[in-house]
Amino acid sequence: MKSITHPAILATLLVALCQPAQAKLNVVATTPDFGAIASSIGGSEVSVTTLAKPTEDPHFVDAKPSFIVKLNHADALVEGGADLEIGWLPALLDQSRNPKLAAGAPGRIACSQGVELVEVPSTLDRSKGDIHAAGNPHYLTDPFNAKAVARHIAEAFAQLDPKSAQVYNGNLKKFNDLLDAKLTEWQTLLAPFKDQQVVAYHDSWPYFSRRFSLKIDLFLEPKPGIPPTPVHLAEVILRMRSDHIHVIMVEPYQNRKTAQTVAADTGATVVDVTQFPGGVKATESGYIELMDYNIRAIARALAGAKQAALRSDKSFAAK
Ligand SMILES: [Zn+2]
Repeated sequence: MKSITHPAILATLLVALCQPAQAKLNVVATTPDFGAIASSIGGSEVSVTTLAKPTEDPHFVDAKPSFIVKLNHADALVEGGADLEIGWLPALLDQSRNPKLAAGAPGRIACSQGVELVEVPSTLDRSKGDIHAAGNPHYLTDPFNAKAVARHIAEAFAQLDPKSAQVYNGNLKKFNDLLDAKLTEWQTLLAPFKDQQVVAYHDSWPYFSRRFSLKIDLFLEPKPGIPPTPVHLAEVILRMRSDHIHVIMVEPYQNRKTAQTVAADTGATVVDVTQFPGGVKATESGYIELMDYNIRAIARALAGAKQAALRSDKSFAAK
């Protein structure tokens, strides 16, 4: 009986079966924002595992023994740097005994390199409890910094895996094009609220406020990493009243009840935002979707506050 399989097809199949599967670059990211950008750049050429959950405080991540195994098997580690993970990552790295992730090795990708940090203290004093001792590490809240980080990751991946350099460069271009298109839209959305003040729970947003011309310099925490105290909250309430601040931003791992108490006292709105894809519903898909959610949520809250203020002015004038 004549075979229906063409010899050329058979040969191709045999060659494909005999070739070893192309190993993907095994990447570990510390937090989901870096993980999402690493996935966008790496695409199908990398496998990305993220250590912190999107609902976890990046300064105080619950370090599990399984993290040591993941770090031990990794070809690359994408970390924030700037002391973001100083409270939990160094001990894990020590125990993982992976020379590929040693400081200065090509597999150690510290994303803060090439980013201009703000709020760098002139004198290092951890005794006051401030956990932003190397400057503010929440730089990814500015999409321009996300572009710098994406470029850094693409270059590092290309160095570790030269055969896929073209893929990484192509993905970088796609990421930048999407981000550029969104940036114009985001700036338009927030333009009506130029210089408006917003309260945040933690000092996570200085890069964001600078990029989008908002003022976010009043926090429910007396210092980054120090929980709110009644005395400090009383001061915040006074300032919110005197400066007419009507929006409080809260992230998933922060105490929403504290924010609600302050909001009830000042007539403010609490808005849920997140630095991490998946921290709030509809932000799971990636960095761009995350920023899109945050910007729309903040614009909506500020628009609501503006209307409420107008209504109260009108009712005052009518009296
Ligand atoms: Zn912080």
